Amino acid sequence: MRYISTRGQAPELTFGEAMLTGLARDGGLYVPQTVPVMSADDIAALAGQSYEEVAFRVMFPFVGETFSETELRGAIARAYAGFGHVARAPLVQLDQGHFLLELFHGPTLAFKDFAMQIIGQLFQIELAKQGKRVTIVGATSGDTGSAAIEAFKGLENVDVFILFPHGRVSEVQRRQMTTPTEANVHALAMDGTFDDCQNRLKDMFNHFEFRDAVGLAGVNSINWARVLAQVVYYFTAAVSLGAPGRKISFTVPTGNFGDIFAGFIAREMGLPIEKLVIATNQNDILHRCLTTGEYRMDGVKPSISPSMDIQISSNFERALFWAYGRDGAAVAQLMDELKTQGGFSVSQGALQGLREIYVSGRVSEDETSETIAQELARSGELLCPHSAVGVRVGAAHVAAPVPMVTLATAHPAKFPDAVEAATGIRPGLPPRMADLFDRPERVTRVPNDLAALEALIEAGRRK
Ligand SMILES: *Cc1c(COP(=O)(O)O)cnc(C)c1O
Repeated sequence: MRYISTRGQAPELTFGEAMLTGLARDGGLYVPQTVPVMSADDIAALAGQSYEEVAFRVMFPFVGETFSETELRGAIARAYAGFGHVARAPLVQLDQGHFLLELFHGPTLAFKDFAMQIIGQLFQIELAKQGKRVTIVGATSGDTGSAAIEAFKGLENVDVFILFPHGRVSEVQRRQMTTPTEANVHALAMDGTFDDCQNRLKDMFNHFEFRDAVGLAGVNSINWARVLAQVVYYFTAAVSLGAPGRKISFTVPTGNFGDIFAGFIAREMGLPIEKLVIATNQNDILHRCLTTGEYRMDGVKPSISPSMDIQISSNFERALFWAYGRDGAAVAQLMDELKTQGGFSVSQGALQGLREIYVSGRVSEDETSETIAQELARSGELLCPHSAVGVRVGAAHVAAPVPMVTLATAHPAKFPDAVEAATGIRPGLPPRMADLFDRPERVTRVPNDLAALEALIEAGRRK
């Protein structure tokens, strides 16, 4: 299996190379040259299997050249062993024809653990084989950083530095980053906003001397390995609701489009998915694009579902690649217009292609709070604000007899202030992390200054 860039100008890579590289050299995103298809019999045979077994069967055709069967099975077993629910991704019913897929039972209580935990294990195996070390540096508004620290802590060939905006992440998110005790993880509280953190990270990747000296690697949501790991739960959910004999739709609270794009890959692999519903908060570039055909940047408006507060949606480039008939030159031109003119128009043909698969909805701040309260009263489920955005849009798109599955992307206890404001109930942490507020914190306060950050990383990594 080879991987090609959405902009058509970067070298083809193996799975392992694409995983360690992240972004392609032409600025594009890696996608598989062909998507392996599972027959209806293959899909039917997933019924009753463990999450781990389904993960192996779904992922193996994509990684074959890089990892052996034994290596992949071992990585999967270690990745999900620390989850707080034996089903890993349990499905609960909200209403007739509407189900909730709980993706928040991992170590940091958000769906990002599903991908990050396995990517940590796969990095470890691949780096040991190549006799290499890397320094992972990430910028986070909360969930990605804590998931990365949990996934890479204590691993041999990796040092992790996570930049987060000082004073601008929730207390649970901060403590998840600052309380791990392993020497190879470093939480850096930077003066500035999330955008400042991300800009310094970009500066480091563009500073090739530093990048090569420390073996800089990224694990942000454009990394193909992360998308692949997320394909698995579309299969477990659909099969438990009757696939391949029955079609299923999914609604996904969406920011950078990584999670919902994994659903598209599941569909390309043969899973009978009817619709993929994009649920956005007031940062609604994707909803506007599907409605009008115009993809235009707009400033970020901070919301109570902060992990979806994006200005542009990076993984949407992969959807465009398919919508434009896998024409890298066409995608490169759109991305150039985005950079120089702040937006682009999607062609009629491509828009029609997108609308055959994706539909969308936008949820305001008030509607988000209202949905948290209503759902508690209706079904007893306490939703995090991101999941509430999903449930609101999902409920509006239930079309019997096709079941709708809405993805619950975080645990309510990760966003206790918003949940308490909506319901009067302050959600408690699960017992396995109930002592989070008693653990000592370890954090370095850093200035918004490239040279100072680089010096600190150079000095702090293991040699
Ligand atoms: C990251 C995140 C999202 C958005 O996921 P994308 O893959 O970026 O679309 C939604 N909800 C939560 C809780 C998240 O952490």
